[in-house]
Amino acid sequence: MRRAARGARRRRPVSSTLGVTSAAPTMKIEFDLLQNAQDSIERAIELVAWGDEQPEPRKLKQAIQAVAHGVELLLKERLRRVHPCLIWENVDKYPSLTARTVSAEQAMARLSTIGGLDFARDDLELIQSLRATRNAIEHLAWTATKQEADSIVGKALEFALHFSKSELDYDFIGYHTRKDDTLNALLSANEALAGSLAKRAFPPNRPECDQPQTCSFCRARSVDPVSNTCKLCGHWNADREDDISF
Ligand SMILES: [Zn+2]
Repeated sequence: MRRAARGARRRRPVSSTLGVTSAAPTMKIEFDLLQNAQDSIERAIELVAWGDEQPEPRKLKQAIQAVAHGVELLLKERLRRVHPCLIWENVDKYPSLTARTVSAEQAMARLSTIGGLDFARDDLELIQSLRATRNAIEHLAWTATKQEADSIVGKALEFALHFSKSELDYDFIGYHTRKDDTLNALLSANEALAGSLAKRAFPPNRPECDQPQTCSFCRARSVDPVSNTCKLCGHWNADREDDISF
């Protein structure tokens, strides 16, 4: 199956039904930790991919808030799977809803020391910058260039997609995002996201013969030269193409 033609009119995907169990006034609104994280990451994906008809500064501001919230909750969900009390800053306060829970950085530190996870220095620094940016947005004033904002949103979203898939067994960019063109829209809209995805799939310093090829489906430079499979979208590339890559 071929992707939709580039330049085709962009559509918004159907809104998520996460947390909705019925439409009556007495309906119960329910998000568990993972669903709450998924909802925020999906919101960030919608904003980046489809723009939501928002002016650029508003779109980027909301995308940073959504991705920062989602990343924090994904990290907490992973911590919960080690032990639920680890989500609380002071573990003795578990499960008080009024006591403070850990920040994204504290969650990463606990996941490293207690959970045995290994985070790359780039990822630790990225999450620090994300928190600083989100703090500025939520508590102070926020100034950035579009390029800076795109970069932090793209990199943070890539971290969220990677962490969710590798640590929580949940794939935000599975088959459905290829079918409805969301993956393509995401990659076209945000260069930092496309670059980070390719960098994670194919770390630098591989030998020349091992360099990734361009995917004929999603157009990212992510096709493993040995298996001919795209690490990004999963498409099997029968014939390699030398199209323009991201
Ligand atoms: Zn692909």
